[in-house]
Amino acid sequence: MAATDRPAQTGKRMSLTTKIMIGMVAGIVVGLIFNQLGSSFINTHIVGGLFAMIGKMFVNALKMLVVPLVVFSLICGVLGIGDIRILGRVGSKAFVLYIVTTAVAIAVAIGLAILIAPGAGFNMEGVNTSGITGKEAPSVWNVFANIVPTNPIAAMANGEMLQIIFYVIVLGVAALMLGEASTSFARACEYMNELMMKVVGIVMAAAPYGVFCLIAKTFTEQGVELFVPVLAYVVTLVSALFLHLFVTLMILFKVLSGLDPLTFIKKIRPAQIFAFSTASSNATIPVTYRCVTERIGVDNSVASFSVPLGATINMDGTAIMQGVATVFLANVYGIDLGLSGYLTVIGMSVLASIGTAGVPGVGLVMLTMVLSQVGLPVEGIALILGVDRLMDMIRTAVNITGDAGVTTIVAKGEGKLDLAIYSDPNAGTVTDELGIDPAAEEALAAAAHHAAR
Ligand code: ASP
Repeated sequence: MAATDRPAQTGKRMSLTTKIMIGMVAGIVVGLIFNQLGSSFINTHIVGGLFAMIGKMFVNALKMLVVPLVVFSLICGVLGIGDIRILGRVGSKAFVLYIVTTAVAIAVAIGLAILIAPGAGFNMEGVNTSGITGKEAPSVWNVFANIVPTNPIAAMANGEMLQIIFYVIVLGVAALMLGEASTSFARACEYMNELMMKVVGIVMAAAPYGVFCLIAKTFTEQGVELFVPVLAYVVTLVSALFLHLFVTLMILFKVLSGLDPLTFIKKIRPAQIFAFSTASSNATIPVTYRCVTERIGVDNSVASFSVPLGATINMDGTAIMQGVATVFLANVYGIDLGLSGYLTVIGMSVLASIGTAGVPGVGLVMLTMVLSQVGLPVEGIALILGVDRLMDMIRTAVNITGDAGVTTIVAKGEGKLDLAIYSDPNAGTVTDELGIDPAAEEALAAAAHHAAR
């Protein structure tokens, strides 16, 4: 991993994080201007053509990294821990914290929404609700049964994260049992892990442009007028998300890890920007993993397991959206859910977040399950559909902050956090220098040539 650990940029060169932030802000400004212009040429060819193409290439490139990175880093993680009992302890700690933070998030969100009461007096007449149907809630038993894959290759091909984690852990444990015989396997996986991190560096160098295109496209498509009718919902939801991000999570972080939360928030910012731009916790895994290992100082043995697990089962922001949306729709329809209704919402949201992957828009699908469970009309979703993309971006940033926070807390508790890295503001600063060394390239080419003869 040393290759990506280059020292921070000093002097005139701008850090990649700054460039990505500029890309994001420029994307918002350009998007809002294009939205106001409403030119069909710009909308079709520039935004729908060029921006969409570059944005999609960038998200595809991130997704391309996820499965190999998770597989190899997790094998190294299991081999690095070297003790199955410790693995179980790390796993259960992360699992419990993920569930607890999600439940707290949604409980606070419901409380806040009841207090603000968005949606009271809203009139559903004239809202187009065609094509909106509910999804069946997953059964708890099925969610757990499906963690065991029937075909590990299919699990990898489909990016089934829980199945991949399960299979790789079994593989790692078997390698541990074989002992010395696994030495070359361990070395090969370590090399593959380092190689994948290098590829992450290459993709990240393109991030300012990818982020710009994704954000500009979203903001061109999202008119301000979409927000007006549901402003009370948006304001309540964004307040609840920020309350969780900056107050609840930070208090939990301070109490459970004893570390300075401000340092944490600063170091996780690149991952938050990626999550905001892609609206996918899964696609952000490589960046979250890189931030927690190289910037925060979490050992691979914890991060390799906790980060992909969190991206799949931990969705604080999504749960908050479901809580606020349920209260909003209950008010719109004038239905009183009562304590038992809200408890059902909390339970359902937590369960649904375990069973569904962190991909764009999945929160809305989960909301249909929650609504049908408490007897609210699923068509109500039509009301909030227009603003959901932007809300998805914000809640995904909250989701991955929870993943990284829990990962850091668990690592600190296990003595797997490098405090020197945590307190070094320049540790693992992202750069867009790819570190191409012509002499090293020549040496490698010569060695390969020699081996081929
Ligand atoms: N996009 C979210 C995520 O990937 C899930 C959602 O709320 O739709 O974490």
